[in-house]
Amino acid sequence: MGHIIFWAIMRTAVLLPTLWVMYSYIEYKYWWWLVIISVYAVIIFPISVQYRIFYEANKEIIEQTLCTSCKHFDKSAVLCMKLDKHPTLNILPCEGLEWEPAGNKNEQAEINT
Ligand code: SF4
Repeated sequence: MGHIIFWAIMRTAVLLPTLWVMYSYIEYKYWWWLVIISVYAVIIFPISVQYRIFYEANKEIIEQTLCTSCKHFDKSAVLCMKLDKHPTLNILPCEGLEWEPAGNKNEQAEINT
């Protein structure tokens, strides 16, 4: 997931100065359309494509391992936050010993009070 954010920032860093330069050459009413279309094409669309690829590549780990139901699992990064390691289909970093059920936030608040 980090690489998606990194490349989005890189594309933004290139796009903004480019749009700034283009501002001098394009009529104002067309410039806004250029901004809207280029932000979508250069930043938003690649993020959605990269996220889809990331999710498909990790779908089985996210949906079908013991980590799926563990409160220490971060699905967005496919990361065990307790051990700071990435589970795979064949290897659970804790070997199941640190598993704790994931509850919703209301349950967690009741436990903490
Ligand atoms: S503690 Fe174990 S079961 Fe829970 S996310 Fe980490 S590796 Fe997976």
